[in-house]
Amino acid sequence: MNIPDIDLPRIVVIGSGFAGLRFCKKIDSSKYQVVLLDKNNYHTFQPLLYQVASSGLEPDSIVYPIRKIFKGKKNFYFRMAETQNIDTDLQEVQTSIGNLHFDHLIIATGATSNFFGMANIEKYAMPMKSLTEALDLRSLIIQNFEEALNTNDLKERERLMNFVIVGAGATGVEVAGALAELKTQVLPQDYPDLDIRRMQIHILEAGPKVLGNMSAHASRKSAEYLKNRGINIWLNTMVKDFDGKTVVCNNQNFETNTLVWAAGISGQSPKGLNVEKSRASRLITDDTNQVKGLDHVFAIGDIAQMNTDENPNGHAMLASVAEQQGSFLAKNLNRVAIGKEMKPFVYNDKGTMATIGRNKAVVDLSFIKFGGFIGWLTWMFVHLMLLVDFRSRLVVFINWVWSYIFYDKGTRIIMRKVNRPKVEG
Ligand SMILES: Cc1cc2nc3c(=O)[nH]c(=O)nc-3n(C[C@H](O)[C@H](O)[C@H](O)COP(=O)(O)OP(=O)(O)OC[C@H]3O[C@@H](n4cnc5c(N)ncnc54)[C@H](O)[C@@H]3O)c2cc1C
Repeated sequence: MNIPDIDLPRIVVIGSGFAGLRFCKKIDSSKYQVVLLDKNNYHTFQPLLYQVASSGLEPDSIVYPIRKIFKGKKNFYFRMAETQNIDTDLQEVQTSIGNLHFDHLIIATGATSNFFGMANIEKYAMPMKSLTEALDLRSLIIQNFEEALNTNDLKERERLMNFVIVGAGATGVEVAGALAELKTQVLPQDYPDLDIRRMQIHILEAGPKVLGNMSAHASRKSAEYLKNRGINIWLNTMVKDFDGKTVVCNNQNFETNTLVWAAGISGQSPKGLNVEKSRASRLITDDTNQVKGLDHVFAIGDIAQMNTDENPNGHAMLASVAEQQGSFLAKNLNRVAIGKEMKPFVYNDKGTMATIGRNKAVVDLSFIKFGGFIGWLTWMFVHLMLLVDFRSRLVVFINWVWSYIFYDKGTRIIMRKVNRPKVEG
């Protein structure tokens, strides 16, 4: 790979998500040469992907070019490259554009959808982990309504207007809330010759409650908000199969053209690491984020599983954990550069939240749990502040104000027809 050899140790960072970006911002590049690799040339703000999928925001409001973020940072190089393999003996990453030696390697490759080995679900369901997947979902939602207009087959029309979301975690709940807003505020105007009241939104959850990772208050309130929005919640319902038309569950079946998969994620690390992984394929690390069994190799963010007494299955896969670990590891390596010892990472839990569309959200902080309109304002403020720059914040804010005042969403376009495996029959 075309990176100059200089008289400084080289840190290679794989992944420009929340963890990798934060690491690169905080690392002292007068002490290290820093090379950031990502298969895309942009950073994705995943928490708002569902708004792209539901036509609320344009893609460029939630992605940001990596080169712009690090403009002017010295001894820093970005290369758009997919890391395919890591050779820990040679201390080398092997990528789509060549190989590169590292002195320290930071793996920040995040997570991917976990279909739990169900090949049909992987083939036909719509995951939402990346910008392209969110755009595909957006196209499919609108395509469904365009097709529903053209069929006289009532069963087929209902299938096109049925939406099934698997997983009642934050992502599933947020997608359902956004679809309910489309149903009440936008689609009746766009499709006056369709009876939009027949559109059904179902959330299927294998566990016994909505937002199972949040407090009992958040769980109860979110279920109430969802029901008030006309969303059907099916608890203790485990999806077993989907052929593109029928969702087969342990207790009943659902007819739909659109199965949104928000049910599980697992770590995605490049090949070549001969180390123990967790059940969710995350790399096990010690309390400095060093991958157990590998010198000079660290993992941060979703890909890292740091087991602690409080979190025996590692920290939650959250942007706040990823950012804190990225920042902390950079500070630790800055300490190493001046001959100091590393310190152990301690997660500062600032709370969790989820929104269920207009005026409704639930917020769990360590000292208070609340929801409703205040929760929704809090959710909006926090997400705006987390966006990478002022321009993105302004664009997102204007979009939100516009749709709040005019009950409208701006981006109901099929950018490209979604490529799904064709369903026979
Ligand atoms: C729909 C959705 C909603 C969410 N909502 C919230 C929320 O409200 N609040 C919250 O705290 N968290 C939320 N999360 C979780 C949060 O987004 C993740 O915890 C966070 O993105 C993890 O950051 P990361 O840096 O570990 O990984 P990521 O942000 O996933 O970044 C990984 C990066 O690695 C790159 N990459 C991967 N493999 C390779 C490779 N082989 N070669 C090169 N590059 C590679 C990817 O392109 C990507 O840029 C949400 C996630 C999703 C999907």
